[in-house]
Formats: sequence, C-alpha cells, structure tokens
Amino acid sequence: MKWSWHIGRIFGIDLKIHLTFFFLLVYIGFLAFSNGGTAASAALDILFIIVLFLFVVMHEFGHALMAKRFNIPTKDITLLPIGGVARLESMPEDPKEELLIAIAGPLVNVVIAGVLFFGLLVSGFFFQPLSVDLLLGNFWVRLLSVNLTLVAFNLIPAFPMDGGRVLRSLLATRIPHVKATRIAANIGKGFALLLGIAGFFFNPWLVLTAFFIWSGAGAEAQSVEIKAGLKGLSVRDALVTQYTQVDANQPLGSVFQLAMQSGQRYIPVVSNGNFLGFIQASSLLRTIERYGDRAPAYSGINLEPEKISPDLPLVDAFVKFSTVRVLPVTVDRELIGFITPESVQQRMWLNQQVKKHNQQPPEETVKPV
Ligand SMILES: [Zn+2]
Repeated sequence: MKWSWHIGRIFGIDLKIHLTFFFLLVYIGFLAFSNGGTAASAALDILFIIVLFLFVVMHEFGHALMAKRFNIPTKDITLLPIGGVARLESMPEDPKEELLIAIAGPLVNVVIAGVLFFGLLVSGFFFQPLSVDLLLGNFWVRLLSVNLTLVAFNLIPAFPMDGGRVLRSLLATRIPHVKATRIAANIGKGFALLLGIAGFFFNPWLVLTAFFIWSGAGAEAQSVEIKAGLKGLSVRDALVTQYTQVDANQPLGSVFQLAMQSGQRYIPVVSNGNFLGFIQASSLLRTIERYGDRAPAYSGINLEPEKISPDLPLVDAFVKFSTVRVLPVTVDRELIGFITPESVQQRMWLNQQVKKHNQQPPEETVKPV
C-alpha cells in the first residue's frame, strides 16, 4: 500500500503503518487537549489508541498465522485509521479453511478480553463501590470494552469483514463458491448502506468504514467471478492473432496509415523477428509532429509491457491488467499475438455461452417416418 511505513517484521510478515494513522493520533491528542484536558490526559488517550491498535495487530496476526497453517503466506499487515488489513497471498477455496482464518482474528480479541477481565477480577476492581465515573474513566475497563466491541463489530456479516467471510464460507458448503460470494457481497453492501446512513447522523468514522465495505465487497465479488470464469484457460485461449505489425525501420507516416486502416489501438513493432514494443495509436500523431513522418517506427514506441508466455494461466495474466492494458505474447522473443482485457472478457463470455448451451437438455430427435 502506498504511503505506508515499514516498522518491523514479525513471524516473517512485514508490519506497516499507513501515514493517515498518525493523523489519527494527532487528532485524538488534539481532541482530548481541546476538551479541557491536560497534556497528561491527552497522552493517556494517545496511549489508549496505541494499545488498541496493538490489539488490532494481534487480531490481524490471528488471521495471518491461521492462514500460514494452510500454507497461505501473508504479504503484509498494514495499520489504517479504520483498523488493520492482513493481505493474504491468496484466498482459500476450501470453505472450512476460510471459516477458520476468518474466525481466528476475532478469537484473539475474545482471548484478550478474557485476560483483561481476569486481571480486573484479580485486582479486585469489580468489588469496589461502583460509580459511573469509575467505569468510564478506567483505562483497563475501556480496553476490555473496546475489545468486546471489536469482536461484535467484526462479526457483523458484512462481507468482506470477518463475519461476512464466515457467512460466505458457510454458504459455500452448500452452493458454488461464486454464488456464495455474490450473495455475501450483496448482503455486505446492504450493511454498508445501513452503516453509512447511521454514520451520517452519528459518526463520520462509520461512513468511511461503510465506504470500504461497499467497495471491498464489489471488488472481491468481481474478482472471484472472473477467476472462476478463467479457470482452466491459458493465455493462448484469449490470444489476438489477427493484427497488423510494423517493422522497426518503417516510416511513421505509413504506420499512421496502417493504424487508420486497421483501427488497432496498439501496433506491435518488430525487428528481425524480435518484438520491440508497441506504438499506441492515440499518441501517433503527436510523435509524427515531433519527429516527422519519415522517422522510423521504433522512435514511436511508447509501450514496452512485460512479455508473457502463451502457456501462462489466464488468471495470472489477467491480474497484470491493473497496470497495463495490453500484454505481448512471445515465444523465443518472437511475437505470436497479444491479449487485452477485452480479448480476455470476450473469451470468458464465449465460455459462459458454451457452458449454457451444454446445460440445455438435448432437443428431442424426430424419428423419420
Ligand atoms: Zn479480522
């Protein structure tokens, strides 16, 4: 994640803090100070937030260490003002594994709450004459209640929060993974809407959380659907093989004409059979203005994406589209075609049509009389 600082490595997992987290500390300190508090009370409030986020880190490690048991590594854990995020390398397909990974986080907070409760019990806190002031003011009681709140909040079945993942895994034991995700994501969006409305009236922090749930649910449901659609396919299946390519020394003027005729957005440039890069049709005019229409085609190359093999699973290629819109496919440096998000989507659509067709009952054959 951008704007995050690496602060350490625990159990082989990088721990990072997002810059916005420090704004939260400053904000809390300022709030306590401006509410007529002393510097000491502001410091205590900041200490409270730090300890709270320590518990959030432990929560995330609950997820990460459980995932490790199922051989799923964690890229990193990042602290954000709205909580922590453990980025797993992949999501388990087995519902039982997902259930255990999802539940491990909140379980950590249950254990912490138990320890705090026991500590308070032993210290005799509960036997003091109760006063509201004491309950609100006590540092440890606040930590206990905030841990219980974390458990309750995380178990709301709002996918992709922990409770939502539990819901999806339970659904996935009965219906297909994609369908289970779709249902869980829709329920998640419903909760996000409710949280957003509630937050609008009571707490802006909830609005932010609602936004993350809404966009997270949509993004993950989509990626699960795409992954399912691309399963078993390789880059070769979505390859664009009908295209015009130009030689490195061909003048830009003729490249422009070819681009107009073919309507191609990306024009491959080759030299002695080796692929050099793409000229983007959209920038061709500007390049000609600068270098003239007699300049060689290679001077117009402005896109050199990673070359991929035709045997690469299509799912692995598809994730690369987050940074580039075209991927050249080569065998021994020679271009055999390219794939674009559109060519992949078309292939996916075709697959779905074929599946639908195969699911239809065969037409009754009419016996010739
Ligand atoms: Zn969690």
